[in-house]
Amino acid sequence: MIEIDAITKIYDGTPAVDAVSLTVETGTITAIVGTSGSGKTTLLRMINRLVEPSSGEVRINGEPTTGLPKEALRRRIGYAIQGHGLFPHHSVARNIGAVPRLLGWPRDKIRARVDELLDLFSMPPDEFRDRYPGELSGGQQQRVGVARALASRPDMILMDEPFGALDPIIRTRAQEDLRRIQRALGSTILIVTHDMEEAIQLGDKVAVMDAGKLVQYAAPAEIIAKPATEFVSEMVGGVDRPLKLLSLFPVSEIVEEGTVDGPVVDASTSLRDALSTCLWSGRDALRVERDGAALGHVTLAAIRARAEAHG
Ligand code: ADP
Ligand code: MG
Repeated sequence: MIEIDAITKIYDGTPAVDAVSLTVETGTITAIVGTSGSGKTTLLRMINRLVEPSSGEVRINGEPTTGLPKEALRRRIGYAIQGHGLFPHHSVARNIGAVPRLLGWPRDKIRARVDELLDLFSMPPDEFRDRYPGELSGGQQQRVGVARALASRPDMILMDEPFGALDPIIRTRAQEDLRRIQRALGSTILIVTHDMEEAIQLGDKVAVMDAGKLVQYAAPAEIIAKPATEFVSEMVGGVDRPLKLLSLFPVSEIVEEGTVDGPVVDASTSLRDALSTCLWSGRDALRVERDGAALGHVTLAAIRARAEAHG
């Protein structure tokens, strides 16, 4: 658990981040969203102390970060930024293994971890480990950047607009990839974005920043249904309405009788996530379970009909 407690940064007498408090539960994604200049990057960088707070503190599992040497802190916190920041003259394997190497992991353990991550990111290790960043597509470079941030199994990963440079089609895939990998590894992620749609798609919780202040911190459905301020409501207004609505309803609302093979979703999964699972897996129906017991199935057609009915 990461507790951010009344953290503030003042530049030239003006707060860039103004007494922000929020708790990030282990194994979840929190998306920090706000317009340019709202203090998102400053907030993120105070967590790994690339920026020293003017006041307030951050605790990781109850331990204040001020008590830890900065190097130790940065080993416990992965960091991924827009434009990936890969070393161009190092191979993919060396880039991903950078932090484990610093930590003195044995060679074969690093190699196994690199291959595990490449597999997770759907980049066959035999094909990719010896390539150089310049030989990869933008989407592949971005995945290597995220894999690098995950490599040493950090307590949490900070991501500052990691998908900002990607074109919209790859971007959706990158978001789905991150979601899948985060669930598989149980990682704790704090991601900054200026895109409310991305925040809603990725976040278990969404933190909305406006002029240095945290104006709402809630689950995506609540942000959409009950925006706390005019500003939040304007940001939500820009989001694609059918998709937004789908994220509000669980699969259980349109479950049909009879089971099917293929990917499984829980009855509590949102229709938005179910849609994304359908599209990602290429299936037109998903098996629905509740607490591990078969409940029925949900079809792509029914999800689409639901989006259109309300859109
Ligand atoms: P965001 O990431 O949301 O775009 P930032 O955290 O980068 O916002 O910036 C928040 C505010 O703090 C902006 O007004 C910015 O100009 C200011 N700021 C950020 N870094 C510095 C700095 N090193 N010195 C002075 N002002 C800064
Ligand atoms: Mg920023």
